[in-house]
Order: sequence, then C-alpha cells, then structure tokens
Amino acid sequence: MRQVYLDYAATTPVKEEVLKEMIPFFSENFGNPSSLYTKGSASKEAIMIARRKVSSLIGADENELFFTSSGTEADDWAIIGIADALKSKGNHIITTGIEHHAVLHSCEYLAKNGYEITFLPVDKEGRVRAEDLENAITDKTILVSIMYVNNEVGTIQDIKELCRITKSKNVVFHTDAVQALGNVKINVKELGVDLMSISGHKIYGPKGIGALYIKRGTKISDFMHGGAQENKKRAGTENLTGIVGFGKAAELAELNSENHITKVTELRNYFIDQVFEKIDDVFLNGSREFRHPGNANITFEFIEGEAMLLYLDLLGISVSTGSACSSASLTPSHVLTCLGVPVEKIHGSLRFTIGDPTTKEDIDYVIEKLVEVVAKLRAISSVSKAKGW
Ligand SMILES: *Cc1c(COP(=O)(O)O)cnc(C)c1O
Repeated sequence: MRQVYLDYAATTPVKEEVLKEMIPFFSENFGNPSSLYTKGSASKEAIMIARRKVSSLIGADENELFFTSSGTEADDWAIIGIADALKSKGNHIITTGIEHHAVLHSCEYLAKNGYEITFLPVDKEGRVRAEDLENAITDKTILVSIMYVNNEVGTIQDIKELCRITKSKNVVFHTDAVQALGNVKINVKELGVDLMSISGHKIYGPKGIGALYIKRGTKISDFMHGGAQENKKRAGTENLTGIVGFGKAAELAELNSENHITKVTELRNYFIDQVFEKIDDVFLNGSREFRHPGNANITFEFIEGEAMLLYLDLLGISVSTGSACSSASLTPSHVLTCLGVPVEKIHGSLRFTIGDPTTKEDIDYVIEKLVEVVAKLRAISSVSKAKGW
C-alpha cells in the first residue's frame, strides 16, 4: 500500500546528506568540544562550522546564535529569560492567542508568578492587527512575543511591522520562527527582532536540537547553569551530532530555498484546488495570501476530523487534526477558536502539510482516498442524524 506522509509541520525526515554528515560524530569524532587535545578541538571546530551555517540561514552573526535542545526550549528561554532579566522594569508581556504551546504555557507559568499577560486577538485569517498591538503596549510592557508562521493554519505575520511598533516603544521583541525557517526568507537584521526561536527537525534535520537567536546587547537571564558552553548562557555538553545535523540541514535549506518554496507551493495549490473541485462543503482555514507554502488546513462539514484521520491512516495517509500536541484530547484547537471558526467546524478540520519529498502522485492518491472517506463518513453522519443519534 502507498504511504503518504502529509504532516511535515509536525516533523520531517532527516535528509540523507544530513545523516551522512552526522554519522562520524557518534563514535569516530566523538571528542568533548571542551577538551583541549585534537579530538576535542575537532568537535569544537565542527560546532563552529554548524553555527555559521545556521546563523547564515537567518542572517545572524555567529556569536548571536545559541544552541538549545529544541524549539520549545528556545521559546521557554526567550520568554522566561527576558521576564526574569527585566523584572525591575515591568511585569507585562504581550503575546497572541494562536501561539504554539511552548509560548502559551511559558506565559501561563509567568502569569502564576506575578506577571500580567495580554493575549492579542487575530482577524479571521489569523493575522494580528498592528493597532491592537500598539494599543496593548504600556509602560510596564517588557516583552512582545508573536510567532512568524502559525503551525496549524500557516498564517504568516508581518513581523517587520509588528517589530517596528514594539521597538518604537523600546520593548523587546521575540518571534517563534520554527515554522518559518526554510519556508520564508528570514533575515533577523531586516526584521529588527531581538530574539528568534528555530528548530532542526522541521527542516529535515534531527530532533532534539534548536537554537535561540539573541541580538547582541539583549539583556536575558542564562537558561542553564553549569559549564561554559554556549558562552555560559546555556551550559551542558553540546549535542554534537544534533548540532552538526542542524548545520547541514540549514545549509541545504539555504541552497534549496527558492526551489523548495516554489515546488511545495505548487503542490499545495493543486491539492487545495482538487479538494474544492471534488468535495462539497469544504472551507480553507487561514489566509490564502499570507500562508506557509506547504500548509492546507481544511474544514469538511458534517464529519469528525478524528474519524477522517483514522480512516486515512488505515489507507497509509498521515495527517493531523489541529496541532499534534492536542491530538490526544478532543478540546477544540485554540488556534481555530481564535480565528472565530465555530466549534462544529473545528471538529471537522484537518491539517495537511506538504514537504520536499511529496510528489503529485502522492497528492492524487490522497485526493482519491479523501473523496471516498468523506462520502462514507457523511453517509454515516446523515443516517445518525436522521435517527437522532
Ligand atoms: C514544532 C514547533 C515548536 C517546537 O519545536 P520543538 O523543536 O519540536 O520543540 C515551536 N513552535 C512552533 C511554531 C512549532 O511548529
């Protein structure tokens, strides 16, 4: 049976070139980067090269990039580290209602510890309105955290403009750019951001490695106390293989960026057009214009997304309902709720995310099966409705 993975926003497979680059650093070049002999300095050198490659992908200087264990850790560090460093200045933080849980839950933790959090609303496409941000900033505001690209509906924010407003009031700006990396051209200097979170496993690198960009001169508390790694800000012996893999993935992403974006956008548009042509009562969630190239978040009226997911899984197709984090529970997606999508439509929503390995044949297979699954489930749901179940 054909296997079609359409959940590249959840994670991506490690590219062969990336794996090849990583392998020698497990058992051959395994030296501790802090050791002074040759085996150690070879590892240190490999980390330096990887840091250069990842920095280059976002237009940062090498000494402004700090490796972390994940995108989640980078988000946690940015938010809690700024809150702690600037607590004498104020206790107000602004974010949005559509952030990843790494940001939302860090803010909720701070709310329990004396901080005030404003969760900005978004419009029906998922975009933050500049005037809402402007009106929310007070003289107690120390941090604004707004994601670059949403992981569920793919909406892209105007980070440059939101950052300009924030900086004009002398407030620190953080963006979670985990979904943006490799899918949107990023330059931290042009955007003007102070902090940016990124992750390896969303760009065909390994899991368990991320990074936080910290603009030179930004006051932030250290994340991990111990050794001198990552300029003493994030102690702990480096994830050497992970860092090397992230570096290679970043290098490939930079080389292929235009091809990747064009190819994935074309397939995604073809997919959406086919769904709309072959299935009735469907809606596209999010923005058509400001959208992650590979994202299609679609509501299928009158059916449960979870039932569709399970049927599609039996046919070898992997997709997601809302964000992977909430897929174990039936609480409606906080992102779709924030966009104003009614609860019954949220329950009929699926997220399809296309990636580099996806082919047109994959899409054709998924369309064929989707048509069958939707027809089957709608037949069941109309029977149950008629019988008053
Ligand atoms: C995946 C993701 C994260 C978390 O990154 P991990 O490396 O998986 O911890 C954070 N934010 C967004 C938008 C993501 O998509």
